[in-house]
Amino acid sequence: MSDKPIRVLLYYFYTNIENAEQYAAEHLKFCKDLGLKGRVLVADEGINGTVSGTVEQTDAYKAYLENDPRFSGIVFKVDEEEEHAFKKMHVRYRPELVTLRLEDDVDPLKLTGKYLSPTEFYDAMQEEDTVVIDARNDYEYDLGHFRGAVRPEIRTFKELPDWIQENKEQFEGKKILTYCTGGVRCEKFSGWLRKVGFEDVSQLHGGIVTYGKDPEVKGKLWDGQLYVFDQRISVPVNQVEHVIVGKDHFDGTPCERYVNCANPECNKQILISEENEHFYMRGCSDECREHPRNRYISEHNLSEDEVQARLDKIAQKRAEEAITNQV
Ligand SMILES: [Zn+2]
Repeated sequence: MSDKPIRVLLYYFYTNIENAEQYAAEHLKFCKDLGLKGRVLVADEGINGTVSGTVEQTDAYKAYLENDPRFSGIVFKVDEEEEHAFKKMHVRYRPELVTLRLEDDVDPLKLTGKYLSPTEFYDAMQEEDTVVIDARNDYEYDLGHFRGAVRPEIRTFKELPDWIQENKEQFEGKKILTYCTGGVRCEKFSGWLRKVGFEDVSQLHGGIVTYGKDPEVKGKLWDGQLYVFDQRISVPVNQVEHVIVGKDHFDGTPCERYVNCANPECNKQILISEENEHFYMRGCSDECREHPRNRYISEHNLSEDEVQARLDKIAQKRAEEAITNQV
C-alpha cells in the first residue's frame, strides 16, 4: 500500500430505497459525524457518490454501506491521494440517480446492456462493425476518451437520447459499446438503447476508473485524462502511454488544464494554458471577458485602464493573426 493518507471512494448502486429523502438526511448525519467529505446522491432508485477521508474513515463508511442489506453487492473504486477531493460533505435527494428523460425512464435492474470486463471491453473495441459511444458530456470527452470513440455533442446527460435518435444511422446494425466514468450512467443509457431497439449493446463494467486500474489492460487505448467531478478535475487512466488529446480553447495547442470561465453567469469549463488564462483574462469569449462581474479582473485587482490595455493587446494579436492568415 502507498503512504498517501487519503482514500477517495467512488461508487453507485441501483436498488429501491424507501423514504429516500429521509434516508438522505440520515446518511448526511452519518458522514458528518465520521468527518468525511464528498458528494452523495440518494434517489428512490439507488445511491451514487464520491467521498474522501482517511483510511479509517473510509473503511468505516464502506462497512456502513456493505452492512446495509439494501446495498448488498456494492463495489467501491478506491484512489489513494494526498489530499481530500472535496471541501465539504453534501448528501442530496433526487428522484433519479441519473436523468435521461422522465417520459421514457429505464430501470437498470430490469433492462440494461451486457456487462463487459476491462479485458472483454478492450478486445471488443477492436472488433469490426463495432461503434464505441462515449456516454459522458462533451467537456469530459474533450479531456480524454477511448481512441476512436464517438463524441456526442451534449452538455448534459439528458440530451443524450435525442442526440442518438438524430444520429442513429451511425449506429444501426452495429455492435454498440458504451462507457462512462464509473458505470452509473451506462447502466441506464445501455438499457435505454435496448429499449429503443438497438440489439447488440454492451457496457464497460465499473467504468473508466476500473479500466484504468485493471492489471491486465492497464488503461490501454485510452487517450488523455479522465475528467472527475471533484477538486482533482482530472486523473490518469492509461498506464502504458500518455497521449494528450485536450486542446487549448484559444490556440488549439495540447492542453489538459481545465478552468471555469471567469464570467460567473457563463462558468463554462475551458481547457486553457496558464499563459492564455492571463492573456485572455479567463474569459471564454469577448462578451465573458468584458463582463462587469468577470472574476479574473476582481481577483487580480485590475483597474479599468489595465483591463483596457489587455483588451487592446488581444485586439492587436487578432489583427496580426488576420494578416498572417491572409498570406
Ligand atoms: Zn464564458
